[in-house]
Amino acid sequence: MNKPYVIGLTGGIGSGKTAAADFLAERGATVIDADVESRALTAEGGEALPRIREAFGDGVFDENGLLNRRALGNLVFGDREKRLALEGILHPMIQHRMIKKIRQAGVEDVPFVFLSVPLLFETGMDALCDETWCLSLPVEEQIRRVMARDDMTREEAVARIESQMPLEEKCRRASLVIRTNRPIEATQAELAVLLRELRRRLG
Ligand code: ATP
Repeated sequence: MNKPYVIGLTGGIGSGKTAAADFLAERGATVIDADVESRALTAEGGEALPRIREAFGDGVFDENGLLNRRALGNLVFGDREKRLALEGILHPMIQHRMIKKIRQAGVEDVPFVFLSVPLLFETGMDALCDETWCLSLPVEEQIRRVMARDDMTREEAVARIESQMPLEEKCRRASLVIRTNRPIEATQAELAVLLRELRRRLG
C-alpha cells in the first residue's frame, strides 16, 4: 500500500470547485468530494439523519421522512449556533468517510487524489493535504453565480457566502490560486496543464 499524494481543492460557494473537480475526474483523476459524502449521509436512510432530527426537529423533514435541504439551509445559514451544531454532526462523519477513501486509493496504488472540500481550511482538513488549490473569483461575480445557480435572493446568497472564511483568506493559505472569472474553457486548460505536471511528477 502506498500513501497517495493529496491535493485539496477548495474555494468559496459557487467559485467553481464542482466544475473543476468534474473536469479532473473526466480526465481520469481520483476525486473525493465532501459534498458527495455529505449528500450520502443525508440521503434516504443516511447515517446522519437521526442526529439531524434530534437536533433540528421534524420541521426540516418532509412528510416522507426525507430531509428538506432548503428548510435546513435557511435555518442554519441564518443562525451561527445552529450552523455549528449541524457542522458538528456532519463534519466528523464526512472526514471519516474521506479518510477511508484516501486509504482505499492507496490500496489501489493510485498516485494522487483530489479532496474537494468547500470548508477545507475551516475544518482543518487541509492537514490531510500535501498541497491545496483555491478556486477564486471576485465576490460580486460569486454572488451572481450563486443567485443564478441556486435560484436564491441576493440576501440568501450573501448569508451563505458570509458563513465561510473569506475567499481572500483561503487564497492566501492555498499553495495555488486558480481564477474562475473567465470562460470555463480557460480554467479547464489551466487544470489540464496542472494535471499533466502532477502525472509527470508523481507517475
Ligand atoms: P458550491 O460550493 O456552492 O457547490 P462550487 O464551488 O462547486 O460551488 P460550481 O457549481 O462548480 O461551484 O460553479 C458555480 C457556477 O460557475 C457553475 O454554474 C459553473 O458552471 C460556473 N462557472 C462559470 N465559469 C466558470 C469557470 N471559469 N470555472 C468554473 N466554474 C465556472
